[in-house]
Amino acid sequence: DLTINKIAAGEVVERPSSVVKELVENCVDAKSTKVIVDIVDGGKKSIRVTDNGSGILSSEVDKSFLRHATSKIKEIDDLYDLYSLGFRGEALASIAAVSKLEMITKAKEEVVGTKVFVEGGKIISKEPVGTTNGTTIIIKDIFFNTPVRQKFLKSTHAETINISDLINKLAIGNPAVQFKYINNGKQMLNTPGDGKLINVVRSIYGKDITENLIEVDFECEYFRMSGYIGNNNVYRSNKNLQHTYINKRFVKSKVILDAINEAYKSIIPIGKHAVCFLNISINPAKIDVNIHPTKLEVKFEDEKDLYIQLRDYLRRKLLSSNL
Ligand code: ADP
Ligand code: MG
Repeated sequence: DLTINKIAAGEVVERPSSVVKELVENCVDAKSTKVIVDIVDGGKKSIRVTDNGSGILSSEVDKSFLRHATSKIKEIDDLYDLYSLGFRGEALASIAAVSKLEMITKAKEEVVGTKVFVEGGKIISKEPVGTTNGTTIIIKDIFFNTPVRQKFLKSTHAETINISDLINKLAIGNPAVQFKYINNGKQMLNTPGDGKLINVVRSIYGKDITENLIEVDFECEYFRMSGYIGNNNVYRSNKNLQHTYINKRFVKSKVILDAINEAYKSIIPIGKHAVCFLNISINPAKIDVNIHPTKLEVKFEDEKDLYIQLRDYLRRKLLSSNL
């Protein structure tokens, strides 16, 4: 139902960066090793996302635009067992409902690909096309049929910052994927995709940061944490360089940030914040990721334990490193 899709779109598609997020997460879910994001005018004019992943079988293409038809969740129980990023099966339907969308895709198993145009949720044309393995999705004229929402888009500059920030987060969360990011024809980012987090951080923030990081790696029964924390030469007056991930999803978790801040208390000046790039791998059954697609919050079954383990490990690590 096109109306339902348009309403649902309000939940998933708030702005161009939410489109980029959903499209790129689909690339990652499709096991891509290379993702190219190309935006014009902060994504308001166009967003193009290309990957070299699994592609979509020609017979499955229509379904990918149907709400819930393709959900990666087979049963409700799977909600708690999520390692894939997408799981509600409504992103593509929602995006297609409020934009002009072109998709070119080819599954490895097939010789010929598919090219499809969708406008306001309606499939306008679909034809076979010669192309390489993977998927390209081009979004034009976002919110063309929801003028109120179009009016509330921010400036090109503000929308561009949102997208750049998001791509940085996705790249840091997925070091084994090469991310190329082009803004108005200019290349902004190209990560190596070699699986090494430190190289992603260097591509984004430069050597000043990476030369001042301490590697961390901690494992207990409950979770595993790996990544980097800043030494006492790097801290910031804003929290932009605090990156925390749960099972590769960027999250804002008060308990994790509290543990980090407490560990650093004696070495960081008041008003400054630690730099960190941390991924926590944890059994999905032990956490509750807010299932709203645009929320970043997460709840832990055993918060106190996580807090103490994290704080004490980071404190030990900071003390034993040559600060
Ligand atoms: P989901 O919650 O399953 O990610 P989406 O609406 O984001 O739902 O995508 C719908 C379906 O379209 C996916 O389940 C997947 O089968 C297919 N799909 C979307 N993007 C891609 C892509 N880049 N590569 C391969 N398949 C894709
Ligand atoms: Mg998805």
